[in-house]
Amino acid sequence: MNKAIKKVVVVGGGTAGWLSAALLKKVVGGPVEIELVESESIGTVGVGEATIPPIRLVNNVLGINEAEFLRETNATLKLAIKFENWRVQGEGYFHTFGAPGKSMAFCQFHHFWKRAKTLGFDSNLWDYDLNYLCCLEGKFAHINSKDPILELPYAYHFDASLYAKFLRTFSEKMGVVRTEGLVEHVKQDPQTGFVTQLQLNDGKIISGDLFIDCSGFRGLLIQKTLGTGYEDWSHWLPCDRAVAVPSERLEKTLPYTRSIAHKAGWQWRIPLQHRNGNGLVYCSDHCSDDEAASTLMGNLDTQALDEPRVIHFKTGRRRKQWNKNVVSVGLSSGFLEPLESTSIHLIQSGIVRLIHLFPHNGIDPVNVNEYNQQSELEYEQIRDFLILHYHVNERDDSQFWRNMRDMQIPDSLTHKIELFRETGKLFREQNDLFLESSWLQVMLGQGIEPKDYHPIANNLDKERLFSMLNTVKNVKQQPIPQLPTHDEFLKHYCKV
Ligand SMILES: Cc1cc2nc3c(=O)[nH]c(=O)nc-3n(C[C@H](O)[C@H](O)[C@H](O)COP(=O)(O)OP(=O)(O)OC[C@H]3O[C@@H](n4cnc5c(N)ncnc54)[C@H](O)[C@@H]3O)c2cc1C
Repeated sequence: MNKAIKKVVVVGGGTAGWLSAALLKKVVGGPVEIELVESESIGTVGVGEATIPPIRLVNNVLGINEAEFLRETNATLKLAIKFENWRVQGEGYFHTFGAPGKSMAFCQFHHFWKRAKTLGFDSNLWDYDLNYLCCLEGKFAHINSKDPILELPYAYHFDASLYAKFLRTFSEKMGVVRTEGLVEHVKQDPQTGFVTQLQLNDGKIISGDLFIDCSGFRGLLIQKTLGTGYEDWSHWLPCDRAVAVPSERLEKTLPYTRSIAHKAGWQWRIPLQHRNGNGLVYCSDHCSDDEAASTLMGNLDTQALDEPRVIHFKTGRRRKQWNKNVVSVGLSSGFLEPLESTSIHLIQSGIVRLIHLFPHNGIDPVNVNEYNQQSELEYEQIRDFLILHYHVNERDDSQFWRNMRDMQIPDSLTHKIELFRETGKLFREQNDLFLESSWLQVMLGQGIEPKDYHPIANNLDKERLFSMLNTVKNVKQQPIPQLPTHDEFLKHYCKV
C-alpha cells in the first residue's frame, strides 16, 4: 500500500497499548497522529509485574524520572530471579542480571573457575557475581563506579495497572488521543484486505493508516479480522493456565523475583512496595484449577487481598506478527509464560523494531518480511531458553517433570546444551536477548556440569589462577557492607 502513514491507531490500553503509544509518539510522533482506543468494559489482563533490564532503556528514551516512576507504580528493584526446586526439590539457584567474575578476552571467566575446580579450588560461581551477593544481603543502590566489574544491572517489579495508568498519563501529556469505546466492527478495504476503519459501540468511526493491535489474547485485528494463524508451542511449554492473587506486603522486600517449581508448573512471588504479587503457572493436564488455587493460597507468605483469578493461555506466536497494515504487539502477538519476565520486553522490542522499519511512505512487503523474520527469531530464542529450565531437571516426583525431561526439544537447544556439557563453551546467537551469562547460570543451576574448559585457562599457573579468583571475589564483595538495604534505598530514593 503506497499511502503515506499519517495516522496510527492503537487498539487496547493495557501495558502493550500504552507503551506502544508512548514510544511511537515520542520517536515518530510529530507528523504522525496517534490515537488509542480502549474499552473499560473489557479491562486489561492485570498481571505482568516483573521486568528485565532493557526496560530502563525505554524509560530513558521516554525521559521518565526513575524516582517518580518507582513511586507512582509502587515499584521495587529487581536484580535476579531465584529458581527454587527446579532441578530437584529443596535446592535453588539464581539467574541474575549480572555476570560472574569479569570479562576476559577470548575466554569467559567460568573456564578459569572450572579449571580451578579441577585443581581442587572448589568455589561457588555465583560468589563472583555482585548481583547475587546483593540479593543474599537484600541490598541495593546505584553503584557509581566506572569499573565494569562493579556494574549492578537491574530491572523493576511494578504494579501492572499502575504502570498502564502511568504510561497513559505520560502519553496523553505528549499528545496521544485516547478514545473510550468498544470496537464492534472492523472495516477492510475490499481489494487489499487492509484495515481502514473501526466502528465503536457508540457508532463512532475511527480511521487510520496503520493499526497496532494491542487487544490482548483476543487478537481483535490480527486474528479475528485477518485470521493470521498461530504457531502452537504447547508441546514444548505445556503450561496453559495461571492463577493469580495479590497478598499483603512482606515486612522486608527483597530485590528479586522468586520462582518456585511445584508438581505441575511453578509459582511466582513478586515483592512490590504496597503488596506482593503471587501466581501459579500450571499445566491443566496435570493440575486442576481448584488444586492450583488451593496450592497457591496455601503457599502465600502473607494474607490474600483478593480472590484467586484463573487466566488461560496458549504458548506460541502469531504466524505473522505484522500482517497487511496491522502490527500485533503484546498478548495479541503471542505468549511465552512469564518464567523469565520477557513479555513486556517483547512489547518494547516489537515497537522499537517497528520504529526502525516504520513505513512512512506506505507499507512495503520488504519491511513487513524483515519485521516478521526478526520477531520470529526473537521468539524462538526466548522459547529455547524457557524450555531449558524445564527440560534439564532431575525431579522424579510427578509425571509432569518426567515428561518435560523426556520430551524432544528443538535442535537449536540440543546443540547448545551439548556444546556446553562437552566443552563448557557458550555463544550468544545473533541478537539473542539472553547473554552467555544467562545461559551459563541456568545450565549450571539446572545441573549441567561442563566436562571441560577452554585451554586458555591453562595459561595461568595454579597459584596465579587461585589468586586471580580470590582477588575478583574480594573486589565484588567490597562494596556490599556500605550499601543500604533494598527497603532503605526505596525509602530514601522515592521518599516513600
Ligand atoms: C499469568 C501471566 C503473568 C504474566 N507475568 C508477566 C511478567 O511478570 N512480566 C512480563 O513482562 N509479562 C508478564 N505477563 C505478560 C503481560 O501481562 C502482558 O504482556 C502485558 O500485560 C500486555 O498485555 P496487553 O496489553 O497485550 O493485553 P491486555 O492487558 O489484555 O490489554 C488489552 C486491551 O485491549 C482492549 N480491548 C480488547 N478488545 C477490545 C475491543 N473490542 N474494543 C476496545 N478495546 C478492546 C482492552 O480494553 C485492554 O485495554 C504475564 C501474563 C500472564 C497471563
